[in-house]
Amino acid sequence: MTNEALFRRALDCLPGGVSSPVRAFRSVGGTPYFVARGEGAYVVDVEGRRYLDYVQSYGASILGHADPAVLDAIAVAAAGGTSFGAPTLGEVLLAEEVRRRVPAVELLRFTSSGTEATMSAIRVARGFTGRSRVVKFAGCYHGHADLLLAGGGSGLSTLGLPDSAGVPTEAVAETVVAPYNAVPDLDERVACVIVEPVAANMGVVPPEPGFLGALRTACDETGALLVFDEVITGFRLGPGGAAERFGVRPDLLCFGKVLGGGLPIGAFGGRRDVMEVLAPIGPVYQAGTLSGNPLATAAGLAALRQLDRGAYDRLEDGAAELAAGLALAAEDAGVALQVPRVGPLLGVFFAAQPVTDYEGAKASAATGRYPVLFHALLREGVAFAPGAYEALFPSLAHGDAERAATLVAAGKALRAVAASG
Ligand SMILES: *Cc1c(COP(=O)(O)O)cnc(C)c1O
Repeated sequence: MTNEALFRRALDCLPGGVSSPVRAFRSVGGTPYFVARGEGAYVVDVEGRRYLDYVQSYGASILGHADPAVLDAIAVAAAGGTSFGAPTLGEVLLAEEVRRRVPAVELLRFTSSGTEATMSAIRVARGFTGRSRVVKFAGCYHGHADLLLAGGGSGLSTLGLPDSAGVPTEAVAETVVAPYNAVPDLDERVACVIVEPVAANMGVVPPEPGFLGALRTACDETGALLVFDEVITGFRLGPGGAAERFGVRPDLLCFGKVLGGGLPIGAFGGRRDVMEVLAPIGPVYQAGTLSGNPLATAAGLAALRQLDRGAYDRLEDGAAELAAGLALAAEDAGVALQVPRVGPLLGVFFAAQPVTDYEGAKASAATGRYPVLFHALLREGVAFAPGAYEALFPSLAHGDAERAATLVAAGKALRAVAASG
C-alpha cells in the first residue's frame, strides 16, 4: 500500500481525503503520509517509513504514542464496557485529579472534544452574566463552534479563511475580535473574554508580561468573566497549566488534548457559583451521550499520573535544548528564524524579530518558507505539522537521541530554506 494510492481512495470517500482539514497538506503541498502506527516519539506510515513525530496528535500524546500505562488503562476499562450513559468512578477520579492541579477549577464537566468545551463554557458565561457579547483575540483558535469562527488561527489561518462559509453573520454578531497582547476595552455588554493564555494556533505567541493579569483586571472592572482556553496549555505547561505558570486565576477554563491521554475528550470548569448555572442544577443546558467516556477518563488519568513535576522539568529542558539548537542551526544557515518557547511548548517563525500577534504570524507564513522547511525535514524523517501556524509538540518520549537527530535534520533543512531564496 502506498500513501499515494490510499490518498486517492480517501479522496473518494472523505472530503479532501481527511477528517480534519490541516491533515490534507494543502498549505504545504504534496501527499499526506497515512499513519499505520505510532511508537513513542515516532510514527510509521503505510509504506513503512518512520518519522520522528512533532505532531503527536496536536499535543494530545504528551507521553508519546502507545504509552504502555495508557494502553493498559484503556484495556482494563474496555474490558468492563465502553460507554454506559450513567456516571462512573473514572470521571470522578479524573475530575479530582484536575482539581488538585488547577485550583481555579471547583466544578468540572466533561465533553468529548475541545470544541464542545469552549462552546459550552461560552454558554455558561452568557447564562451566568445574562450578557451576550464575547471577546476573543485574532489568531486564537477555540475549536469550530459557529460563534468562535471569527479571526481564528490554526486550520483557519492555514486555509486563509477569515471566517467560514456556513456560519451566518448573526452567529458571530456578538463576537468581537481584538488583537492579541493588547487589552481590549470592555463594557457591561461583555459576557466573557476568551483567550489562549499562550497562543499556540498561530504558531506559538507568548503573552506579553502583564497581559493576562490586565485582562483579569479589565474583566473584574466590568463584570465580564475571564475564560482561559487551556486546550493546548493545560497539563502541558506544568501541572496547573497556564493559570499556574502566569499566576492568573480565570473564572472558567477549557481543556482537551493532553487531558484524554490520546483519546477523545474535553472539559470545562471553574468557579462553583458560575458552573452551578449548568443543568441539572441551573437553567443552562449542556449534555453529551459519550461525555465522561470511561475509556477516555481512564486514559487521561493514566497520563496525568505520569505527569509530575519531574516529567514537566524533563519536557521543559528538552524543549529548551531543541529551541536553542534550532536557533543556532538557523543562524548557521543564515535564515532569520524565531523560536518562541514557553515551557515545553515551542514554535518557529520566519521573522527577524519576536512575533507578538496575528499580523506578525501571518507575515511569517507569507514568506512561503515553512513549506520548504516542512518538506526538507520530512525527507530527513522528521515530521513537523503540515501548516505554518501549528506548534511543535515534543513528548516525554523525545530523548537526547531524538533531539540530536532533529537538529541534524534541521541543519540540512534550514540550508535548503536558505537556498530556496
Ligand atoms: C485543539 C483546540 C481546540 C479544539 O479542540 P478539539 O478537540 O479539536 O475540538 C480548542 N482550543 C484550542 C486552544 C485548541 O488548540
